Amino acid sequence: MRTTYQQTLLINFVSREDIDEWRNLFLPNFPDLRIASWDDPSVEPESVHYVLVWEPERGKLAQFPNLRVILSEAAGVDHILNDSTVTANIPITRMVTPETESRMADYVTMACYLLVRQIPLVMQAQKRQSWKNKLTGRLVNETSVGIMGMGRLGTAVAKRLLANGFTVRGWSRTEKNAHGVQCYAENDQLAAFLRESHILVNLLPDTIATRGIINAELLEQLPPNAGLINVGRGHQLDHDALLVGLNNGHLSGAVLDVFPVEPLPPEDPLWTHPRIIITSHVASLISNTAKAKQAIEIIQADRSGLPLPLVFNREYGY
Ligand code: NDP
Repeated sequence: MRTTYQQTLLINFVSREDIDEWRNLFLPNFPDLRIASWDDPSVEPESVHYVLVWEPERGKLAQFPNLRVILSEAAGVDHILNDSTVTANIPITRMVTPETESRMADYVTMACYLLVRQIPLVMQAQKRQSWKNKLTGRLVNETSVGIMGMGRLGTAVAKRLLANGFTVRGWSRTEKNAHGVQCYAENDQLAAFLRESHILVNLLPDTIATRGIINAELLEQLPPNAGLINVGRGHQLDHDALLVGLNNGHLSGAVLDVFPVEPLPPEDPLWTHPRIIITSHVASLISNTAKAKQAIEIIQADRSGLPLPLVFNREYGY
């Protein structure tokens, strides 16, 4: 006998062939919830109460009259807000799991080691088969890492860096009191934060206030030979300013995971710069199991009339 589902969760990044894996992840908690892929023609738009999405096509979400929650597949929700037809009364939740925090901490710690040991230049020497065994880089316990954005991910990264012997500074919109971290807030403390950040890590969300924030003026305030790690969003970094800083020697290297256009176009000069390491927005990709676990918590909260976890704040833009 065919089950009649009152409610559907639609997922836009899974094909109809692969949807069974997702059904199995949700089934123990929600036997009454239909899990379907975006392109399933048998789904009635009225039954769609939840969607789990990455970069949904413009106008599609507005076709579901009973939509209750838009679950982002990622921590950032800029990929949903790009669609101006999404109405402001539907809550959007961010995807930040313990696995997201752990993987981001792994990535940033790895990137800090790559920069302190000047590995971009070591890799260039390898390409030339050139043996360069001179002393490179500063000691970890002489290195101060400045984290822009002390939210869920910034805080997890700070803890891991402290455990690895780095000195950690954090900058955020509001005052913070994070154990072991020298905290700064707002624009008037930005210069003091930057002045001693040997490595700058960007973990800010994409908002009107943060777009283009890492520009020439900001980079010039970092100490000489500073490194940059961008894991926030591509639009926050002025690439021309980065290239000037790297080429004039003020900056020693950069590890970049996010870009204004993704995939990064093949002709972009960043690909081949000797002091840049590029990864393809992989800093904290997480497993389907972790995504489903958090989606279950969010849907359970909604069904129980409880406050939703990780709701995007439209007033602050993150
Ligand atoms: P949160 O919302 O938890 O934290 C955001 C932090 O940024 C907060 O500390 C906030 O300050 C601060 N902030 C926001 N606006 C400003 C501002 N104008 N000036 C100073 N500080 C500001 O976000 P998450 O930590 O969960 O995620 C951060 C970002 O990381 C995401 O938005 C996403 O862009 C990126 N990301 C990248 C991934 C990748 O794979 N590369 C994966 C996951 C996320 P306050 O604490 O005062 O509110």
